[in-house]
Amino acid sequence: MVITIDGPSGVGKSRVSRALATALGVPYLDTGSYYRAATHVAIQNGADPSDQSAVLEALSDAKLAVVDGVLWLDERDIADSLRSPQVTAAVSTVAAHPLVRSRIVDMQRRWVADEGGSAVVEGRDIGTVVFPNAEVKVFLTADGATRAARRSRDAEVSGTSVEQIRTDMERRDAADSTRIISPLRPAEDAVTIDTSSLTVAQTVKQILDLVGKA
Ligand code: C5P
Repeated sequence: MVITIDGPSGVGKSRVSRALATALGVPYLDTGSYYRAATHVAIQNGADPSDQSAVLEALSDAKLAVVDGVLWLDERDIADSLRSPQVTAAVSTVAAHPLVRSRIVDMQRRWVADEGGSAVVEGRDIGTVVFPNAEVKVFLTADGATRAARRSRDAEVSGTSVEQIRTDMERRDAADSTRIISPLRPAEDAVTIDTSSLTVAQTVKQILDLVGKA
């Protein structure tokens, strides 16, 4: 069974998806890390993130592998680089390239198939594009203040004011929601859960109830 968890940043997708995958005993895939890795290799190669061909070329030379739910590049854990402010600032530009997306979506589908076809998959377009036939689709939301406060607790943005985090988040949401290909939006058959006043455990419980009914 594939369970898709989509939504903007700061709604608790990663924590909820990891805990859900553990509860169900299935693997977890963070699809945003692929777009971040493509952005990281492009920057490393001196490529302009808005140049689709240059990003594709950088991506072709990269060896990506998922190790314990974390994306590795060329046999190294690059988690810190994937969360750098430079990568975060450019990732939505890279994620708007259609050919970059189709290559990354292929990798994600292949990974789930290689894992046996069951997984919790987290992202922006998972229920709409990557796994449109998934058995359980969830779209997480939360109010702007809650999302900014949650993000401000992440190490990657330490030292940044909550106002600045909120502005950056709104810029990325706007780019992700208005792009022509695979915009961020709930699938028609997704269940939307507002996590503003829910703990991770409460959110996971609601999704487990949906899984039980599927
Ligand atoms: O989830 P995370 O914040 O790491 O995602 C980084 C960026 O990758 C998003 O802002 C979005 O531009 C892109 N993304 C996407 N489709 C996905 C996952 C992430 O376009 N399925």
